[in-house]
Amino acid sequence: MFRGWVKNQLEAKEFKESDGLFYWRERIYRSIVFIISITGLPAYVFGIYLSIKHNLISITIADTIVYGLLLFLWLKNPFTLKIKTILLISFPLILGVLLIIIAGPRGAGFSYFLGFIILASILLGFKGTIAGLVIHIVFSTIIGVGLASNWFDTVTYLPYSTTTWITITINSLVICSITSIPLSVLMHGLNNYITRHNLLENSLKEKIKQLAKAKKEADKANELKTKFLANMSHEVRTPLNVISGFSEIVQKGMYRNTKERDQFLYTINQNGQYLLNIIENILDISMIESQQLKYHIKTVNLCSFMQDIQQVYKINHTPIDILFVPMQTNCDINFQTDETRLKQVLINLINNAIKYTEKGHVSIGFEMCDERLLFSVSDTGIGIHPDDMEHIFDRFVKIANPNTVIDGTGLGLAISRSIIEALGGTISVESILNKGSVFTVSLPLQTQKAPFLNETTN
Ligand code: ADP
Repeated sequence: MFRGWVKNQLEAKEFKESDGLFYWRERIYRSIVFIISITGLPAYVFGIYLSIKHNLISITIADTIVYGLLLFLWLKNPFTLKIKTILLISFPLILGVLLIIIAGPRGAGFSYFLGFIILASILLGFKGTIAGLVIHIVFSTIIGVGLASNWFDTVTYLPYSTTTWITITINSLVICSITSIPLSVLMHGLNNYITRHNLLENSLKEKIKQLAKAKKEADKANELKTKFLANMSHEVRTPLNVISGFSEIVQKGMYRNTKERDQFLYTINQNGQYLLNIIENILDISMIESQQLKYHIKTVNLCSFMQDIQQVYKINHTPIDILFVPMQTNCDINFQTDETRLKQVLINLINNAIKYTEKGHVSIGFEMCDERLLFSVSDTGIGIHPDDMEHIFDRFVKIANPNTVIDGTGLGLAISRSIIEALGGTISVESILNKGSVFTVSLPLQTQKAPFLNETTN
């Protein structure tokens, strides 16, 4: 418990270790105040005894003031650390001046001057050293003038000549200078070193954090790629098996009537389309990753753009309704974008909405908002769990849903986001589990040129 109390007295309270020299200065300050307050007590008692015995009341008063101030510094007080430091440094100065006047060259006055200069160098740095030396010269001069003019005759215990005084003062100044100047240079160097060391340590910590994050991401990407490959072999094999099985049936004429044959041919065509879609997705993502995907910007009319998309869903093979915002809504707007890529994104969002909606409807809308074009695709489908929302735009992410076995490569949204961002826009989602989702694409009317954009004007 005693050890803990002592440790607490010596510990810095205002600065942290990362604050460098300020922290060490505070620790030095606290150590000095604490140790002198404790060890100074017997010295103070003995000094008082001697001064009273020799009837030196001025020394009794000076000692009491200094020791009292020291205790004041040690215990809690409202002053800032800077003021407390200056007060601490001024103690040996005051004691030095008094002892030089009262006890003369045989007293410890000039030793206290040295203590004052050393403390100033350590606690206040180079400026403190220079200020200390100037104070030394000023005080010595005043005392010298005082001695020569017999100002202190009534208090001087051991009078001394002006020559003695000059010799002692010059020697004291030399000793103070050769001690304090190297010390302050050393403190300056130490400060630079600690600052550099702290900077280095912080940047190292930051680098370690970044590396750990990069490793985590790389591990995750690796895991996703492995999952993707496993999933892919299934995704590719299924339509291929269907195509080869049904084409063999058709080739060998193993169907009951032409209606059944047409149904088989339709299945072959559907699976062919699906396979093509998978291959296109893989090609797209590899082009995006190598920044090879080219964009062709041209002026697009919103009405005809929406009509083209509507056309794709004209023959609806799904049990759910696909609703388009009525075209009377002001759609006569021209905007600049890569029409084919934007269509690809919206069709992907609509296909997803259809894929993940069993009953209800999918609706597609658009509106102008703050010079931006907003496209929205909403559905009344399975929705997305809040924990999955931030991942669904990542590559190869397929959210496992135990209730549904739905095809997909987990690339559609990643491709969509890359395309929309390259076109200067954003894509976002809001969703409630088991209620439905809304995907929103926001695009500027004028597309900013991305570094790998190819612009074609029309
Ligand atoms: P996938 O080919 O698997 O559909 P995407 O990148 O298009 O890949 O979508 C990633 C995941 O986001 C999907 O596996 C699905 O879980 C989720 N998702 C996408 N669109 C919807 C939607 N409209 N409703 C519910 N979940 C969706």
